[in-house]
Amino acid sequence: MSECRKSNEVSRRSLLKNATMMAGGAAALAATIAATPAEADKMSQKGALYQDAPKNGQQCDGCALFKAPASCTIVDGTISPTGWCRFFSKKS
Ligand code: SF4
Repeated sequence: MSECRKSNEVSRRSLLKNATMMAGGAAALAATIAATPAEADKMSQKGALYQDAPKNGQQCDGCALFKAPASCTIVDGTISPTGWCRFFSKKS
């Protein structure tokens, strides 16, 4: 095999590898965007049994789904850091 041909194979291999990595990155980005619910897709506060006060020592600012200063990944509307709902998930 000539040096030129070897070089072309390496080049093609590199291109394919890079293209595969880029496609994987684009898929991961699309999945992240799709996994973040738009405000309209969020659950109502009533449906989540949201309340403005803590419950059993649990409150929104200790929940993994809380987004400071006053919103939540899955429950719509203004969310108090000292609120609570049935989907409370303790931050790790
Ligand atoms: S407890 Fe968690 S899931 Fe429920 S409203 Fe507060 S931040 Fe959102």
